[in-house]
This record gives sequence, C-alpha cells and structure tokens, in this order.
Amino acid sequence: MDIFKKIKDYARKVNEIEYSISSNKKEFIEIYERNLALEREIVQRTQELDQANKAFLTLKHVWELLNSSEPLSTVLQKLVNSLHGEMGYINSTILQVCNDEKGKYYKVKAFSESPIFAKLTEYLNQKNINIHEYHLKYDPQMLITRAIEEKNILYSNDYLKIINNLLYDFNDEQIASINKLGVSKNIICIPLFPSNVAFGVMMIFSPREEVTDKELNFLSLFANQVEMAITIANLFENLKKEAVTDSLTELYNRRYFNQAIQKEAERAQRLHQPFSIISLDLDYLKKINDTYGHFFGDLAIRTIADILKKNARSIDVPARLGGEEFSVLLPGVDSSGAMIAAERIRAAIEAQELDTIGHITASVGVGTFPEHSIKLDELLDLTDQAMYKSKINGRNRVTMAKAIDNEAEWQEIAFGAFMDILTKQKIPIPDKIAKEITSKLKSINSNETKSTLFSVADTLAQTYNAHYKRGLTKAKVSMAIELGRKMELSKEDIDKLKIAMMLYDIGKLLIPEEILNKKEPLTDEERQKIKEHPLIAARTILQPIGGVADIVPIIEAHHENWDGSGYPNKLSGDDIPVSSQIILIVDAYFALTQSRPYRVARSKDEAIEIIKLESGKKWNEKLVEQFVDLLNESKN
Ligand code: GH3
Ligand code: MG
Repeated sequence: MDIFKKIKDYARKVNEIEYSISSNKKEFIEIYERNLALEREIVQRTQELDQANKAFLTLKHVWELLNSSEPLSTVLQKLVNSLHGEMGYINSTILQVCNDEKGKYYKVKAFSESPIFAKLTEYLNQKNINIHEYHLKYDPQMLITRAIEEKNILYSNDYLKIINNLLYDFNDEQIASINKLGVSKNIICIPLFPSNVAFGVMMIFSPREEVTDKELNFLSLFANQVEMAITIANLFENLKKEAVTDSLTELYNRRYFNQAIQKEAERAQRLHQPFSIISLDLDYLKKINDTYGHFFGDLAIRTIADILKKNARSIDVPARLGGEEFSVLLPGVDSSGAMIAAERIRAAIEAQELDTIGHITASVGVGTFPEHSIKLDELLDLTDQAMYKSKINGRNRVTMAKAIDNEAEWQEIAFGAFMDILTKQKIPIPDKIAKEITSKLKSINSNETKSTLFSVADTLAQTYNAHYKRGLTKAKVSMAIELGRKMELSKEDIDKLKIAMMLYDIGKLLIPEEILNKKEPLTDEERQKIKEHPLIAARTILQPIGGVADIVPIIEAHHENWDGSGYPNKLSGDDIPVSSQIILIVDAYFALTQSRPYRVARSKDEAIEIIKLESGKKWNEKLVEQFVDLLNESKN
C-alpha cells in the first residue's frame, strides 16, 4: 500500500512540477512578450521624442533667426542647412516661383551646402551666372510644378529627369558629374504656401529607394516651419518698409530722410566729399484739390513721386517729407551736378500729361554741402529758401541756394585757437597785456567776436614786436581774403585762409624777443630759429588744437618759394598751397610798407616793384599779377 501511495505521491509531485514548469513557461513567455512590447514602445517613443526634439529645435531655430532680424534668404539658408544630413538627406533646396515679362521661372532661394551644389555653382560661375540669379525652367508638367499646383507632397525616383528638366542648358556630361557627387534615389517635393500664397517648393534629395510615411510627416512638419519663417520674414520686411516709407507714394518718409542726411553729412565731412539736396514743392496743389478733388491732388503727388524715383540713382534718397513737400538726397554730387539733376526732374514733371488735370509744375531748390553750408540745419534752410525763391520768381523753376557769408564760424575757430594757445602753451605774457586780453575776452558778446579777436591778435603781435602797428591783423586778413577770391579759392578754402592768416605768425611767440627786434644782422643760429617758426607754429602749437588742424599744411608752407628756394621743405610750384603763397605775399607787402628795426618803410609803389622783381622766383607769376591788380584797384 505504501508503495502505491508513494507512487501516487510521486505522480502528484511530477504533476505539480509539470504544472509549475508549464505555468512558469507561460509566465516567462508573457514576460518576454511584455518586454518586447515595451522595448518597441521605447523605440517608438524615443523616435517620437527625437522627432519632436528636432521639430522643437527647428522651431527654436526659426525664432532665433527671426529675432535676429536676418533677411529671408539667410533664414532659409540656415533652415535648409539644418535639414541637411538629417535622415541621411543628400541635399535640400528651396526654389521660389518668380515671374517676369517672359513668364514664370524658378529661382534658387537657398540650398544646403553639399558637393552637388558646389559643382552646380562652379558650372554657373564658368558662365558668369550667380546661382541665385539663375532662371530654372518652370515646366507645368514637372513634378515640382505639379506639387505646387496640386498643393501636395510628391516624390519621384526619376531623379535625372527632374534635374535635366530644371537645368535645361547643361549637357549630359555635366549632369552626370553633378549626380555622381551624391547618388539620389528619390526627390521629394514639398510645396510651400506661407499665408496660403504659393511661394515655391522645397526639394529633398533622398538616398533611399523607399519614401516612408513617417519621413513625409517629418518633412511636412519641417515645411510648416519654413512657411512660418517666410510669413514672419515677410511681415517683418513689410513692417520695416512701413517704418521708412510713405504709404501714398512709397517714397522714403521724413524720418528716414532725416537719418539719411545725418549719416551723409558725417560721411561727407570725413571723406571731404560733397553732397546735395534737392527740395521740391508742387505748384498750386490747393487749386488742383479745389477744382478736381483730392483724388486728383493725390494723383499729382504720386506723379511727382514716380518721376523722382525714375530719376534717382540707387544711392539717392528720394523722400516725401509731408503733404506736397519732397526732397532728394544726392550723395557725392556737387552743386553743378545737382542743378542738372534738378532741372531734369523739373522738366520731366512739366512734360508729363495727367488724366483730367493736364500738366502740373513744381518749384525746386538746390543746396550743396560744403559749398552753401557745412552745417546741416543751415543747409536745409538755405535749400528751402532757394525753393521759395523759385516760387516767388514765378514757379516751375530751379534755384540754387546762396551761401550766407557766415563770419561767426571761422571766428569761433580762430578765437578758440587763440585761447588754447594762451592757456595750454603757458606763453609768458606781461601782466599788463594779460590783463588787457582778459578784459577784452570778458567783454565779448557774439557781435563783437570778430573785433575782439583782431584786437587780441594785435595785442599779442605788439607784445612781441615793438614796431607792430595796431590794426594790421585786420588789414592783412582782408587783403588775403580779396586775393583768395581773385585766385578763385573756394569758400571753404577762404575760410581756412582767414584763420591761417591770423595764426601763422604765432610761432614767433616762441622766438626770443631779442632776435625779433635785433638791429644787427642775424647769426646763422638765429636765422635758423626764425626759419623754424612756421614749423613750430604749425606742428607744436596748432596741430593739437581741434578745428585748426586743417590749416596746419597752409601755415607750414608759408615760407616756401615758387622756385623751391624757400623753407622748411623746399617745395616748389603747385606743390605749395595757394593759400600759403597768399600769406607769403601779403606778409611781404606789409613788412615792406612797415618800418622795421633795420630799415625804413617803403611806399606802396616801391613795394610793388620789389615784389614784381621776384615774380616767378619767390612767388607764382599769376599770383603777382592778381596781387598788383588788387593793389591798383584799391588805389582807385
Ligand atoms: P504753391 O504753388 O505756392 O505751392 O501753392 P499750393 O497751393 O501748392 O501751396 P499751399 O501750401 O498753399 O497748399 C498746399 C495744399 O496741399 C494744402 C493741402 O490741402 C494740400 N495737400 C497737402 N497734402 C496733401 C495730400 O496728401 N493730398 C492732397 N490731395 N492734397 C494735399
Ligand atoms: Mg505747393
């Protein structure tokens, strides 16, 4: 019995073991399957996460690009580059549909940096074509075009056909060599419709035979970002445009014009180049409005705007400053060039026949930097005044601005230079003279600047030259100005000459009084000291003083002779500034007609004869002729 019981027990145990084994197996399989599913899920989740991450990165990219307010082409370029290499893509390209009088074509807006495009660019360069200007064929039958027209993602494995079709003027060999650089199995075309308007297409070159749904999903997501980038960039572009243009005429607005002239004035100042402003006002606009209504008044304004645009070079800035007031900034153009441009505009306005109104006219003013003023506000005022003069004189004409002879400016500079010399150079000035100068400077008001300046100059000169006659500085300066005019110096050069004439002798302040007043002949050493004075004046004293640095070369050369026998640099002929020669001749004339420690004063005629003797040697013959003329004129 026991044995049966034992057998039964064993059997039960075996059963139990069997059962346990089988149930364990089931459990194991279940676990195994569950793990498998989990793994799959993890892979999928990771992939999704990866894609979401990519999408997020793309989106982040878009925002970064837009925040940096880069131009659309740069934004698109960065987007295609960020796609390059993702999922093994060989190339991604954005084409824009364009339209001109010959019809539609594609333009390469952006392409990822790849050997394929490097080769294509190389071929185009051989033909002197910029890839962004190259017209790709727009064929309605083509996959790309159909993708846009059907608003659908399309792809094809007939890679060569597509390329051949687009690059229609490339030969087979070239196409083959391009293709060799990255064998594409498929081209995927995704239409781009930012704000629901057809922009173009994104072309993706894939190395795989198969195009999966997941891949298309990702690409369409990416295309959405591209569309968003285009939309925002366009919005931004429009905003920028609105901020600087006038909506009726699309000319620049007053704000932009003001910025532009400010910048131009700085540039012109720095490079010593001229610029001009044309100011223009429509004649009798009120009458047009009253007779035909505002619509036609606006038409007249738009007509003028179109003519200004048509006549402007790319660097000009035509602007509507408000109402019927227009201005054009002409960088680098002098007054004669601006007069020609203004007259061309005026004539074009008069010639145009308008619907209902007939012909209109405009009154024009022209102002030029630095000829009419070196101050921007003043230049604008003078240009406006010239325009009003055109109105007063009967309208439909051009008037050039007239420079106001603004004495204040150069006086200010010369005066500043004096002050600087007195304070910075610590020149020993006798107490009595210092007091006199100080009291003169204190009593100054703007009307008296000029006379105070002359008297300070005189006081200084007298201090260091006992024989100096009061009032000489003033007389010398006015003679130099007149001679400058006769020698046809520009207004700007005459201004510099005036200052130079007042300051050129300042170097003498550094020469010991005994030498200046010596009766016996000078020793070599003393003569050397005297010879140094233009250099000392120019370099030591004037160079560091703001505003007068410009006249340093004039003063430096005011002892150079026409035949090269002068000092300090032995310049000759036209290498010597005309202004320096003027200073030399005026100075000589005054020295001759004043008594000096070592000789008596000459008469005017004697002085003329002495100067004539050295014509062509010490000074320019033409200058001597003009100078003699000037003296004879003042005699009569
Ligand atoms: P003048 O020859 O002296 O310049 O005579 P005018 O009538 O053109 O000049 P005025 O300055 O007396 O009048 C300018 C008029 O231009 C007044 C204003 O109603 C009109 N105007 C200003 N801006 C606009 C605009 O944008 N559209 C229209 N239609 N009229 C404007
Ligand atoms: Mg008007």
